[in-house]
Amino acid sequence: MPHIRLAIVGPSPCNRCYAACCKQNGHDWSVLLQTDDERRRFRPWAIDLAVTGDDGAVVVEKVLPYRDGRCIFLGDDDLCQIYEDRPLSCRKFECTGHFNRHGVGKHTRFIDLNPRVREMLESA
Ligand code: SF4
Ligand code: SF4
Repeated sequence: MPHIRLAIVGPSPCNRCYAACCKQNGHDWSVLLQTDDERRRFRPWAIDLAVTGDDGAVVVEKVLPYRDGRCIFLGDDDLCQIYEDRPLSCRKFECTGHFNRHGVGKHTRFIDLNPRVREMLESA
C-alpha cells in the first residue's frame, strides 16, 4: 500500500521558529559545503569529515562545525550572521519537506529529533 503524504503548502515557518536547523540536532557538523566556491569561501572555518558511502567507499567532505551546539555563524539573537552569503545547504533546507515525508506521522530524523519543530508544523 502506498504511503499517504500530507502536503504542507508554503515555505517553512522560520519567522515562528528558534533557528532549530542551525543548532545541533543529530549531526556532528552544522553545514555540508557543496560547491567549490563555498569550499573556497568558507575554508578558514571548514573542517574535514570522512563519510562512508553505501558502497563502503570513504569520501572526505568539507563541513562547518558547531560551537557549543550552534552553527558558528548563528548570532546570539538566533539569526544567521551571514544570511546573504549562507551556503547552498542552508538555502535549500525546508523542514516542511521532512514533515510526513514517509506518510502521515512518519517524518525524517530531523523532525523526530526536533519535537518543537514537529509541534510547530502540526499546528500550521
Ligand atoms: S527548522 Fe524549519 S522553521 Fe525552523 S528555522 Fe529551520 S527551516 Fe525554518
Ligand atoms: S550558515 Fe547561517 S543559515 Fe546556515 S546553519 Fe549557519 S546560521 Fe544557519
